[in-house]
Amino acid sequence: MCNYFKPVNLWLLLLRMKAKKVADLTGEICTRCCTGHLAAKRGREYFRHKDELVIIENVPAWVCNKCGERYHRAVVFKSIRQIAAAKSRITKHVRVPVAR
Ligand SMILES: [Zn+2]
Repeated sequence: MCNYFKPVNLWLLLLRMKAKKVADLTGEICTRCCTGHLAAKRGREYFRHKDELVIIENVPAWVCNKCGERYHRAVVFKSIRQIAAAKSRITKHVRVPVAR
């Protein structure tokens, strides 16, 4: 039975990646919903840096076709953090309404 809160499921997924000798999650079963399959895509990521919300475009990820959960390579996630912190990478600002 698949359970997102069981760390062993993510560990098993990483073990299967190592067995395939490729760092590719395409076609793997999502560890969050346990029914969807992952596909490589590029998309928009929202990352909170200090008191700002930074939107980063064209970020590679594996996305679940059922629940939308996104999985990133460690190096990509590290880049997201670095880009969000770099003021020189900001190309424009947008206004976002906030509701309560
Ligand atoms: Zn899923």
